[in-house]
Amino acid sequence: MAPDTITLARALVERAYQQMIHAASAFKAAKPVRDELRAALALPPTSTSVVPAELVHDLEGIAVGRTAHVFNGSCPDQVEGEMVRDDECPACRILLRLDAHKRAV
Ligand SMILES: [Zn+2]
Repeated sequence: MAPDTITLARALVERAYQQMIHAASAFKAAKPVRDELRAALALPPTSTSVVPAELVHDLEGIAVGRTAHVFNGSCPDQVEGEMVRDDECPACRILLRLDAHKRAV
């Protein structure tokens, strides 16, 4: 999220939008704000994914070299691509847990 971004409840933005509809009929300057609020409300709801600390710790292990890929089968690399996994490899098993987490959110 950008540093100058804040998160507001959809209901609050909805109320502001309703107010701006009325304001925009009286004040021309209110129309761009009304349109921005309408555009924000048209965006799909965002879901916040909280990655378990243990999984972050294990992913960090791959990044710093504490857990390495065995490269015996289908570990992700420049040839096989990023999406392949070897369920015999400890690093890939961590990635499989991340994959499962992504599917769950
Ligand atoms: Zn691997």
